[in-house]
Amino acid sequence: MTGELSNCKECGCLFIAKHDNNLCFECNSEQQKKLSAVRQYLRNHPGQTAAEISEAMDLNLRFILDLIRQGTLVAS
Ligand SMILES: [Zn+2]
Repeated sequence: MTGELSNCKECGCLFIAKHDNNLCFECNSEQQKKLSAVRQYLRNHPGQTAAEISEAMDLNLRFILDLIRQGTLVAS
């Protein structure tokens, strides 16, 4: 099992999808960086809403809502 050829949902490039990931390697590592930044931010600023995090960190609100929906980030 080598994975399926898939389009990255972020940049649209073709890549071999592994697990449930639908991001290419580059976009995935970019997302991991953003994710740990958001986690760090939440530790320092507990109780923020997704909109406030999005505003404060200049991140796409949909990106943060996606993280919450996937359970990657727990909304307070
Ligand atoms: Zn990509």
